Amino acid sequence: MKQCSLGAFPPNSLTSHPLYSMNQPIKPADLEAGWRFDNSYARLPGAFHTRVNPTPVGSPRLVLFNGSLARSMGLDPAAFSGPDAAAHFTGNQMFAGVDPIAQAYAGHQFGNLTRLGDGRAILLGEHLTPSGDRFDIQLKGAGPTPYSRRGDGRAALGPMLREYLISEAMHALGIPTTRSLAVAGTGETVFREELLHGAVLTRVAASHIRVGTFEYFAAIGDTDALRVLADHTIRRHFPHHTDSDQAALGLLEEVMERQASLIAHWMRVGFVHGVMNTDNMAMSGETIDYGPCAFIDAYDPAAVFSSIDHQGRYAFRQQSRIAAWNLARFAEALLPILHKEPETSLAVANAALESFQDRFRRHWLAAMRCKLGLFTAEPDDASLVEELLRAMHRTQADYTHTFRNLRPHATVEPRHLSDAAFTSWHQRWTERLSRQPQSIEEVVRLMNAHNPAVIPRNHEVEAALTAASTRNDLAPLKLILAALANPYNEAGQPGALLNPPPPGTPTCRTFCGT
Ligand code: AMP
Ligand code: MG
Repeated sequence: MKQCSLGAFPPNSLTSHPLYSMNQPIKPADLEAGWRFDNSYARLPGAFHTRVNPTPVGSPRLVLFNGSLARSMGLDPAAFSGPDAAAHFTGNQMFAGVDPIAQAYAGHQFGNLTRLGDGRAILLGEHLTPSGDRFDIQLKGAGPTPYSRRGDGRAALGPMLREYLISEAMHALGIPTTRSLAVAGTGETVFREELLHGAVLTRVAASHIRVGTFEYFAAIGDTDALRVLADHTIRRHFPHHTDSDQAALGLLEEVMERQASLIAHWMRVGFVHGVMNTDNMAMSGETIDYGPCAFIDAYDPAAVFSSIDHQGRYAFRQQSRIAAWNLARFAEALLPILHKEPETSLAVANAALESFQDRFRRHWLAAMRCKLGLFTAEPDDASLVEELLRAMHRTQADYTHTFRNLRPHATVEPRHLSDAAFTSWHQRWTERLSRQPQSIEEVVRLMNAHNPAVIPRNHEVEAALTAASTRNDLAPLKLILAALANPYNEAGQPGALLNPPPPGTPTCRTFCGT
């Protein structure tokens, strides 16, 4: 490949090459269900992936199927009602047109760079929807791959149901996320300190290209592959940069902007991702990999749920800083293709990175203004938010419940916040509201659209997962799923999900060994 100049991709380097072009003639469609697979990632050069088929399982059984997601992707849910569905969603049978691969990538895990790759996930290919969207269809827990290291390539039922539940909750909350089409039991056991039921999750994602994918090629010094990857990612997610002579810089800035917006969303709803390693940061800006994640109950900026995050590296308040750290690793990986002069590359990367905290702050403040019903902007708004958060922290107020129940001119104040500091804050907030033209009704409408009434409460989620994975009782899980489909609405919601956990409920711990 030709040397790239001034950050540009060589003209016609990839588009003209049949291997790289994204839209190949579609393979025979699976007419019955509506699948239309195209496999642009599988057509990338060999270093990007390894072809591998799922390992068949003993006794496939469909546990959950997401009919509304299927419909939105142009699939016919009725086609998944027979026994074949479980066979397909465990990888025992293949949908027409797939080209299964495990993707190569690296990643900084708790700060250390490691060679990873899909150790238990197999990308079947990309489904093209009737409206022209392209989604990765991935089986997570589908058996070993050349990247499995010492892992078994499998997943347990509880954690796959957990990913299904939380990812679908995030989607309904209006937060970019990978989604879950199905969970299928394997009829086999997996060993995670104890014997558990095995399962496969069918994950749907805008793509699975990560910061770690770029780090992989940077680490092995393959600049040509970096260019191919950047070009592929730009065509897929940021096509308006395709012909730019600064495409790599455009990519860096777009990814930064999406991450700034994503983390602000997480802060808005009290979400702690828990394992923000660079292999879990997607180019698409979707939340990905629901391992040790959780929503905070009582407001605590230092909240950590992961049992292995002893230093609080991925604590609630750390998330924007860690995102910036991860993006610095992304910029480093891009250095060879940002500019032909190394010093210029470095200067360009640093200038871009410096903008991250401002980008994040802008998104965060916009989100928090909505939570407080503020339509206009005043210089003291950030301090108004921070004063409330301090009072909430001191009184251990429930994050979701407090925001949802804040009322201008309320006669009844949220019970946790009846202390003097809150009273003076409430006065300040009411005065602030009176300086904007919108009516109280408009204020309440804005607040209700940004402060969820229901979130996946840890203790409820754990109880539902236990019922599902140990007693085969899916009723509690389905109840929570139904409630979380309408998170900004109180009407008809189960009281247990609307309220903070009862006093004395133990803090949830989540585990990485999923
Ligand atoms: P995660 O913590 O899920 O983001 O995974 C980090 C890395 O470990 C990825 O490369 C996974 O593919 C790999 N991995 C996690 N669990 C397993 C497993 N049971 N078998 C093989 N690889 C795994
Ligand atoms: Mg991961």
